[in-house]
Amino acid sequence: MSLYPVLFVSHGAPDLLLHSGATGELWSRLGRELPRPRAILAVSAHWGRPQPTVSTVDQPATLHDFSGFPEALYQMSYLAPGAPELAAQVLNQLLEAGLPILQHGSRGLDHGAWAPLKLLYPEADVPVTQLAIQPAAGPEWHWQLGRALAPLREQGVLILASGAITHNFGWLNWQGDAQAYEPAREFSDWVGQRLADGQTDALLDYRRQAPHGTCAHPTEEHLHPLFVALGAGGSQPPRRYTPEFTYGGLAMDAYVWDSPVTKESRHED
Ligand code: ZN
Repeated sequence: MSLYPVLFVSHGAPDLLLHSGATGELWSRLGRELPRPRAILAVSAHWGRPQPTVSTVDQPATLHDFSGFPEALYQMSYLAPGAPELAAQVLNQLLEAGLPILQHGSRGLDHGAWAPLKLLYPEADVPVTQLAIQPAAGPEWHWQLGRALAPLREQGVLILASGAITHNFGWLNWQGDAQAYEPAREFSDWVGQRLADGQTDALLDYRRQAPHGTCAHPTEEHLHPLFVALGAGGSQPPRRYTPEFTYGGLAMDAYVWDSPVTKESRHED
């Protein structure tokens, strides 16, 4: 059985859509190349709740959950239909896995979800809902969350995990200097190598094992979506994309976990 790919994106600063560059080109290309999903479950760093919570809203509003950026960003919207049926499936999957889950009747899409979706699926015609992360829980919790969501891949659901490979505002140069900040490069390459080697245990222990581990993520919420993607994607190495560093310190890496290559699917080839 072929499984729908899992996608992780680093969503960058909220103004990325105003000068979307190499990252925007990548998202547009992935939207064209990935098979069309039946529905999308977005797991963004910008919706944190104490417990996993899924939105059951019919028509998610576009949340402009940032301040101090150009007015043009506040005029943007992404009006895809909601996905209450998918929300019900997510509820069942997590309960079956023994995980707690709550429903939210009105939560819209935050910029971690709608900014990449605007380039991935610009027609806004794929139903989408969001699942909240738990900012105070660690990598292993989010990896387990991803494992519980993995069966959705059998049903054409795109799990879109949206966070950041590096997220330390002290590493950023807001003057727009795009030259990569060396610690950001070292940390993102360490993550890339561990994913390529299937070293899940090392990744879950990144704060101790990775170069600049705690510095790359003074708070962990922006890396949590990567662990959700890893749990759903499995130990097969993902495809890594490294389009650019924005503001010097934001590695814009994206990862795609394809359907595992089995003996059967090889035979079909
Ligand atoms: Zn963010």
